[in-house]
Amino acid sequence: MLKPSTFKIEGFFYSPYIVIFMKKILLVNPPIYDFSAYDFWLRPYGLLTVAGYLQNSAQLFLFDYLDRQSGAVSPKDQPDEFGRGKFLDKIIDRPINFKGIPRYYRRFGKPREMFRQFILEHQTFDFVLIQTVMTYWQIGVEEAIADIRDICPEAKIILGGVYATICREHAKTIGADFILSGTDLGPLWDYIQITPDMKQLPYWQGYQSPGNGIIKLADGCPFKCTYCSVPKIYEGFKSRGLERAVREFDFMALLGIRNIAFYDDSLLHKTDEVLGPFLKYVVSQKTCINFHTPNALNARFIKPDIAELMISAGVKTFYIGYESNSVVWQNNTGGKVCTSEFKQAVNYLASAGANRKNITAYIIIGHPDDDIQQVEQSMYQANESGVKIMLAEFSPIPGTEDGQKCSKWVDMSVPLNHNKTAFTIWSKGFEESNRLKRLCKKLNKII
Ligand code: SF4
Repeated sequence: MLKPSTFKIEGFFYSPYIVIFMKKILLVNPPIYDFSAYDFWLRPYGLLTVAGYLQNSAQLFLFDYLDRQSGAVSPKDQPDEFGRGKFLDKIIDRPINFKGIPRYYRRFGKPREMFRQFILEHQTFDFVLIQTVMTYWQIGVEEAIADIRDICPEAKIILGGVYATICREHAKTIGADFILSGTDLGPLWDYIQITPDMKQLPYWQGYQSPGNGIIKLADGCPFKCTYCSVPKIYEGFKSRGLERAVREFDFMALLGIRNIAFYDDSLLHKTDEVLGPFLKYVVSQKTCINFHTPNALNARFIKPDIAELMISAGVKTFYIGYESNSVVWQNNTGGKVCTSEFKQAVNYLASAGANRKNITAYIIIGHPDDDIQQVEQSMYQANESGVKIMLAEFSPIPGTEDGQKCSKWVDMSVPLNHNKTAFTIWSKGFEESNRLKRLCKKLNKII
């Protein structure tokens, strides 16, 4: 029996008797089933944020299948200087949908047995919160649900995140008890009957060693690109507030995190109000933390002053959403950027001190209108600026204008059909897709 003394958890004092009566919640970041996956600063930030709100009112247990610090690392991993690396993976049979796709299909993440053992050790749970990301990663979610149902059938399983939002009807069919769609957390608090403490920070302490960190300064984006899910998920653009951003940063610095990725969709919108003040605070703290921008920067908003501030604050890698050099294609899809803005942005970043090898231009391949997109010319254009190219294979998203166009190739009601590797091969052909990838590699060698 526990002694009735008090002890400290995360800065608060609890009686063990209170802990005994707290609800037990298992937090799960599922494994990935896909042709490729790489730890590109992947962290279940949404799940950790929700867990943070609950940390003083529930007993939390985190199982992240993709945590390379604790069992999800590939034996072939050679992490780069900024903490990116390979996940543990296993080649598996392709689902029937992908029988015609001549690429290896894999399961990425910690072994299944490790999760089953974790549940056995810590059961039972009142609730299980599962983060979902890409719509076509649903097999990993199903695997986690099957093991929870098998070992801990009384737990109520809750899905949240992108798949649960964009493919809500499909998500209802894979065995969860509750689907949280969208960004309103109210229905979740009602379902689990816990009052959240919205001042609490993301639950990074759920990791033995957090590795890379994530921050998000604002939600949403003022643009409405026809291929993007962001306008479907968020209404407009809203800052999360400087005070919260600063506290999240301080907490991650305290935990020893050395690489932080911005998960913002529009990091450079309203820089005077959002990113600028945050970076000035970071500069004032004189830390040696590296920042990264994997979610694509909008080149239009990269100006000399913000470029210099980003460099001073420790932003090391810059990913720019260039997508295409075709004016017609850019205008048709939302007009977020044009080639002259892209080139100017690269020059501003380089003048401010960025290494061009750490600047990457995303270019979409496999888009339904790629006959006017000029993928190859776009690659040469980006290469002329002396930056790396990363081909972003197109994943059709249901409910978007461009996703609807893809119905002529695939049944969009089947999430696996949104797979970016498969869809690019279906729409462009295997040979052409490989040819462009080879060209990309070749160009990247000569910058
Ligand atoms: S600018 Fe980026 S985040 Fe915004 S709608 Fe376009 S692709 Fe999406």
